[in-house]
Amino acid sequence: MFESLTDRFNSVFKSLSGRGRITESNISDAMREVRKALLEADVNYQVAKQFCKDVREAALGAEVVQSLKPGQVLIKIVQDELTKLMGPEGSDIYYVSPGPTVIMLAGLQGCGKTTTAAKLANYVRSEGKKPQMVAVDLQRPAAIEQLRTLGEQIDVPVYCEESKDSVKVAKNGLKDAKKNDADVVILDTAGRLHVDQELMDEVSNVAKATSPHQIYLVCDSMTGQDAVNSAKEFNERLELDGVILTKLDGDARGGAALSVKAVTGKPIKFAGVGEKIEDLQKFHPDRMAGRILG
Ligand code: GDP
Repeated sequence: MFESLTDRFNSVFKSLSGRGRITESNISDAMREVRKALLEADVNYQVAKQFCKDVREAALGAEVVQSLKPGQVLIKIVQDELTKLMGPEGSDIYYVSPGPTVIMLAGLQGCGKTTTAAKLANYVRSEGKKPQMVAVDLQRPAAIEQLRTLGEQIDVPVYCEESKDSVKVAKNGLKDAKKNDADVVILDTAGRLHVDQELMDEVSNVAKATSPHQIYLVCDSMTGQDAVNSAKEFNERLELDGVILTKLDGDARGGAALSVKAVTGKPIKFAGVGEKIEDLQKFHPDRMAGRILG
């Protein structure tokens, strides 16, 4: 995960950590290298620029120049700023009482939304809740069958019906979940290859009709800035609570993880780290920052 960024950071800090003294100009040089590394990792340009500015200010304020181990102090500052960039921490799902808690997943086709619906159902069950999924992705022909198969695999009921009307399916799914005494309803909504008006209208109509308690945007981290740009567009139409970043296990760069919070203002709640049902983790910005710095 994010190997190339880790390598680049390591080489920047290696050149500083051996020194007993560093100057303000050493910090500026290092920040220039950090900025290059971030841009190569496909971090949003403004985010990279602001990040380096913040680190530089924090470093000068902390008098890194005067400290005995300036390299280490600077690394700590970078780690704290990376944590802030991806934070705040807090992926606990807020369950309403009386239930069911309605969770809506939105995202582009192929981002891993359907798989994530099942992973999340499995996760909420591990928290002692009774989940139900609703197949509202009527766009992708195989999505309903895929959700049904995943539901069988984890023994979670899936509501689906033959229809072209996603609002109707979502509402009926909700009714069915109430009848089944489900605590949590997960709506797997339609995706498209790109953000378009039709998609946005459809997901916002489903949201209006079902008033979800939480809306998560599922983003494929391997698509870098494309994921961030689509997150920005979804965020303008839906009241997102956070992002679930999938395929982190295959992402060598990290551009989406490092930009999406700063660009949308919405935190990363969960990370998908593999294809299996168990491969969903709470997202911890501090741990991720630590990993990036190696
Ligand atoms: P959807 O079109 O958004 O519903 O996407 P799918 O749920 O069908 O997922 C698309 C592909 O991504 C499938 O092959 C999934 O197994 C895979 N996938 C989903 N999440 C992850 C993840 O976190 N890591 C990896 N490696 N693959 C994933």
